[in-house]
Amino acid sequence: MFGINVKLIYWQNNPEKQSSQPSIQIHRAPFPARPRAVQQPPRPTLATPSESFPLIQGTIKQVIADPHCHTLSSDGMVTPAQLVDAAVKARLDLIAVTDHDTMRSVKETQERGHAAGLTVVAGQEITTRWPARTHMMAWFLDRPIKWGMSLDDTVAAVHDQGGLAIVPHPFMPVYFGSIQPDMLRRLIEKHRLDGIEMVFTVPIGARRRRQLDAFYADNRDRLGAAVGGSDCHFGAHDIGSAITEYAGDFRTAISERTTQPRRIRHAGRLPAALALRQQWRALVDLPLRRSRGQL
Ligand SMILES: [Zn+2]
Ligand SMILES: [Zn+2]
Repeated sequence: MFGINVKLIYWQNNPEKQSSQPSIQIHRAPFPARPRAVQQPPRPTLATPSESFPLIQGTIKQVIADPHCHTLSSDGMVTPAQLVDAAVKARLDLIAVTDHDTMRSVKETQERGHAAGLTVVAGQEITTRWPARTHMMAWFLDRPIKWGMSLDDTVAAVHDQGGLAIVPHPFMPVYFGSIQPDMLRRLIEKHRLDGIEMVFTVPIGARRRRQLDAFYADNRDRLGAAVGGSDCHFGAHDIGSAITEYAGDFRTAISERTTQPRRIRHAGRLPAALALRQQWRALVDLPLRRSRGQL
């Protein structure tokens, strides 16, 4: 459904001059002096193409985001510094910090990202109420969203503060954490969502993939932009394994649904001990901290 479609935009080196629409200035070309006696055709008022287009300094670059990343503040295994470092090395332009039920790492990641030329969106992955504890992702938040509310109330709270509500890893074959078709159908009857991860790193099987593609085709208007995210928990090991490609401003691209989700690389092989430690953090440590009110 999502073929590889490389969109290129011109990206100026000077951040002050960055713009999705590079300005094109028209210059009159200096013509060499010619003998007066010879009748010349009128001078062209437009510059030749080669004079119209070399005005942009810099390189041509894909603009890519990995808008689903975790840090040590929840069950990720990296600090904000390591996350930014991994994003820069993976040549990403934008990431979103979407820790489970906390925004504690957002500020530091944004500051470090700013210094490194990386845009960092303030986000959160919110755990909704028991028993399904479905995850809902939010971008462009000012303050954390309370966990443990219904899906409806969670999306309403995200929109109340001007954030975007994004469905992460839908239709996984599990009862916990991942929204299922009936739940999503009920949710979009009430809310117009801003986006849905159509490319993510957990395999869901061919049948569920077809179901998801058909659901998106039928309900595109209520589901918003198709996005991709790696659900990065291990920094350099898995960042950028699923991405959202876009041109111009990220938020505008989401609202205009011009984003393109893609897989660009497979996550690196994880040392078993690191994978186990992350599982312990996700399944034991994080729920404990949540129940103690430490998130
Ligand atoms: Zn999740
Ligand atoms: Zn996640």
